[in-house]
Amino acid sequence: MTSFDTSLSFARRLDSLDPLASFRDQFIITDPDLIYLDGNSLGRMPKAAAERAKQVIDEWGHDLIRGWNKGWWKAPQRVGDKIGKLIGAAPGQVVVTDTVSINLFKLTAAALALQPHRKRIITDTLNFPSDLYILQGIKNLLSTGGLDTTAEEHRRLLDHQIIRIGAADDDITPDLAALEAAITEDTALVTLSHVTFKSGYLYDMRRITDLAHAKGALVLWDLSHSVGSVPIELDQCSADLAVGCTYKYLNGGPGAPAFLYVNKKIQDKLTSPIWGWWGQKNPFDFDLDYVPAPGVERFLAGTQPIISLLTMEAALEPTLQAGMDAIRAKSVSMTDYASFLTDTWLAPFGFFLGSPRDSANRGSHISIRHPEGYRIARALIEEMNVIPDFRAPDNLRLGFAPLYTSFAEIWEGFHRLKRVMEEKRYDKYPQQKLTVT
Ligand SMILES: *Cc1c(COP(=O)(O)O)cnc(C)c1O
Repeated sequence: MTSFDTSLSFARRLDSLDPLASFRDQFIITDPDLIYLDGNSLGRMPKAAAERAKQVIDEWGHDLIRGWNKGWWKAPQRVGDKIGKLIGAAPGQVVVTDTVSINLFKLTAAALALQPHRKRIITDTLNFPSDLYILQGIKNLLSTGGLDTTAEEHRRLLDHQIIRIGAADDDITPDLAALEAAITEDTALVTLSHVTFKSGYLYDMRRITDLAHAKGALVLWDLSHSVGSVPIELDQCSADLAVGCTYKYLNGGPGAPAFLYVNKKIQDKLTSPIWGWWGQKNPFDFDLDYVPAPGVERFLAGTQPIISLLTMEAALEPTLQAGMDAIRAKSVSMTDYASFLTDTWLAPFGFFLGSPRDSANRGSHISIRHPEGYRIARALIEEMNVIPDFRAPDNLRLGFAPLYTSFAEIWEGFHRLKRVMEEKRYDKYPQQKLTVT
């Protein structure tokens, strides 16, 4: 870690040396006083996206159905290839469609069907709950059922088994030795979040992928918290499958469609569990029997949300211009700096770091933990014009988006947080939680 100090002038000096500083101008900032540290949950709006959204609405009004032949129909592939540049995927392996949860369902089901005799699915307790629910739902769907004891016995042998690897230490780092040991010859799929949503732990994609392949298992990475914040090399790592989100660090807007990646080497071996016309070989033949489209397109199901898809396409521009190496370099400095401010200013109030100390194992957000985390988050949002988010039981989560977060903004956010603690401003809030935290 570079040596930091706690002065505002120091933060300003970091900003003056920041090669990405000018990118902030590419974003809509309506309230300059707002300290927005939640770009890992919903990114700020790029000006390019705002302009494109207006154009898309006009195109809809003018082109009507002709729009499908003017770039709408092929948008999932075109935008998928752009995202491919950010995740080390050569063209023809990524499509934009549906949500992360649905894409995870499609790819997991396809992976399990490829090796039906293998019964283990490996994941971890640090994973995003929706990812775990999807796995449980698939297991339930594929379950052989059982009404008598013989069937019960059958079920034990035939059902999939979901193994959740626990954390090695205080919910920050997964138990890698246990993960390695759990991947056996009976493993069909290893599926993990590349960057975990609470602690921000960053998996070594190459190492885990190699471990899985050594036992003949496939790997499915959830890139939701790493795409746009961490360089990713899916092809180089020989990753099999991936899914990811576009409204976090890619700034695509609320509900912008997600993406999925299927490695060229296995595309034609996999079958989507949802056979829709967008995944059909010749959809406009309106044939009565399904034949899968060649390649990754078979994982499309139905009509795409074109307005948000095209808006999201424009939102990718700042990220594509800046490049992932510059983004990662700034992200590391920001999370190091925030860790330093946590240790120096907040540890005396009982805060401790809930994220890896070594930036090599960390994405672009950190969690700082405090027993009063929830009420502290409320005070920050309601009185201090600072937006973090809260993740149970005690994580105040702070996201740093290299394209628009400045070091002075981080300084100001921590300074306001220090005031909340000094003045015990959280005391007056109830323990009871609001619906969306
Ligand atoms: C944000 C996120 C999701 C979101 O899933 P949706 O189905 O698109 O709502 C899923 N998984 C992870 C790891 C995430 O961070």
